[in-house]
Amino acid sequence: MDAPTQTPASLVHFYDTRTHAIACGAEGPDRRSTKHPRQVTCQSCVALSGASRALDDGAGAIS
Ligand SMILES: [Zn+2]
Repeated sequence: MDAPTQTPASLVHFYDTRTHAIACGAEGPDRRSTKHPRQVTCQSCVALSGASRALDDGAGAIS
């Protein structure tokens, strides 16, 4: 806990409960995932999950 984990294997991806898949499409036995956005460390997943939520929130406002 004294050193930042930056290796790909330590990334935590966002698990989309609607699509039942990792948001960024990562696969493999070593990949980790969570349904809790605050615990996600994969920048791609953060962006994708954030974008997804933005789309959901703004869906009615987009013209
Ligand atoms: Zn990811």
